[in-house]
Amino acid sequence: MKVFIISLGSVDSVVLKNLAEDLEKVLKIDVTILGSITLSEEAYSLEREQYSGDFILKYLSRIILLENGKLLGVTEEDLYAKGLNFIFGIAQISERNAVISLNRLKDKIRERALKEAVHELGHTFGLLHCENKSCVMSFSNNLDEVDAKSSDFCSEHNFLR
Ligand SMILES: [Zn+2]
Ligand SMILES: [Zn+2]
Repeated sequence: MKVFIISLGSVDSVVLKNLAEDLEKVLKIDVTILGSITLSEEAYSLEREQYSGDFILKYLSRIILLENGKLLGVTEEDLYAKGLNFIFGIAQISERNAVISLNRLKDKIRERALKEAVHELGHTFGLLHCENKSCVMSFSNNLDEVDAKSSDFCSEHNFLR
């Protein structure tokens, strides 16, 4: 099992490199940065001036990987999902694809991006949301909640050890 990172549109290469390095440490899984693809304009909502997370997941699922692994899209564009003003990321539960947005992470981007990436990848490994606010699988609605959680799983979710 590996994690592949793909950038959707242009993404700061230092941020990607740090994310790959940090994800390897937390998940104890090999992480490879694949490169960049253009963000499909079909995913863009003119009305909301944001990209649809669900559409991006569909788009990612069409990408063929030659090795068994999870695919994490990273974008600097702002994302939304139905019923939510914005999302930090979204994933397919127990499937392959996940996406995170760096758009609202501002400073502390390294640790915040790591938390959101671990969270979304946790969903692809079948994990659901956790009530424990310090667990990386707790749902974050704003940056305070992102900052309140750690980048690691609580003992209940610690499937990697
Ligand atoms: Zn979640
Ligand atoms: Zn937990």
